[in-house]
Amino acid sequence: KQYIPAPDRYESMSYRRCGTSGLRLPAVSLGLWHNFGDLTPVEHMKSMLFTAFDHGITHFDLANNYGPQPGAAERHAGEILSHDFAGHRDELVISTKAGYLMWPGPYGDWGSRKYLLSSLDQSLERLGLDYVDIFYHHRPDPNTPLEETMGALAQAVSSGKALYVGLSNYDGPALERATTILNELHCPFIICQNRYSIFDRTVERNGLKDAASRLGKGLITFSPLAQGLLTDRYLQGIPADSRIKVDGRFLKSDALTEGRLAQIRELNRLAGERGQTLAEMALAWILRDDSVTSVLIGASKSQQILDNIGALSNTSFTAEELAAIDRASLG
Ligand code: NDP
Repeated sequence: KQYIPAPDRYESMSYRRCGTSGLRLPAVSLGLWHNFGDLTPVEHMKSMLFTAFDHGITHFDLANNYGPQPGAAERHAGEILSHDFAGHRDELVISTKAGYLMWPGPYGDWGSRKYLLSSLDQSLERLGLDYVDIFYHHRPDPNTPLEETMGALAQAVSSGKALYVGLSNYDGPALERATTILNELHCPFIICQNRYSIFDRTVERNGLKDAASRLGKGLITFSPLAQGLLTDRYLQGIPADSRIKVDGRFLKSDALTEGRLAQIRELNRLAGERGQTLAEMALAWILRDDSVTSVLIGASKSQQILDNIGALSNTSFTAEELAAIDRASLG
């Protein structure tokens, strides 16, 4: 039957300005890296996308290689968008990326103009869209001149195939160099996508977070729950329906060391003292900082999306709470 989005879908979500741009993103966005490939029933994907949109999550994040198989997530999302979200395209921010291995040979990886522009055409085909809202370079390429890669992003925009561009997995100095080039090209570069969580604070150390804020770029943070570690998922062993068991390509059981588990237990206790679940606290911890535009979550169930939106009801922390989180996670 026809999906009719909830009429009150914009009433509870908060929307944050992406840097100094005109674009606002939901504080919680949904990524399709896992659970949108060929292993997941389409009905299940639909229920997650409907739940998200019904609660004001207007931003879905993809990449050319999301699957399995690579390309499958874009294909499934494309089918669902065209059938079920028809009429709502202008209410959605769809992003995709190129930068990791996508097809064999020298033109299906990294950062050449040849790769980026042909990959974007392939993504649009799979997504069934005329344009994406944000096109990212997925990771820096040490062997391609930055001018070439940035030029390809600028052309994605000038050709009408992307509205904005973003950079993913760049550090502070690379972001500065890229920004200079993209400014010269008058390219609407508005957003950085980087890993950031209580467990991974690289962006605080490599200059990315400061540079993004100083340059007026938005920051959307991926794996904010450390792929599920920063939740109650693994407190009682490894559940059969968890990422480690179902699709452990990137999260393996060896991540669950005794030391890590002790940290998770302590963080879970601190979350309880705040009246939050650990997932809520982990997301709130990122969102406490206004310079972060959005936390980019993944989900294997609709209920997780609802639980994660719950983080928005308390995103302030006392200095004592922050210090206790640091002690529990960095020690
Ligand atoms: P998260 O850290 O949010 O991990 C998501 C996983 O955590 C879920 O699949 C689920 O695992 C578990 N989970 C989520 N909510 C809850 C909850 N409330 N309670 C218990 N468990 C929960 O993010 P991801 O690692 O999935 O990354 C999110 C998105 O970021 C990706 O989809 C992608 O769009 C983007 N990304 C970008 C990268 C880049 O290089 N630019 C790299 C990686 C990700 P389970 O399956 O066990 O239920």
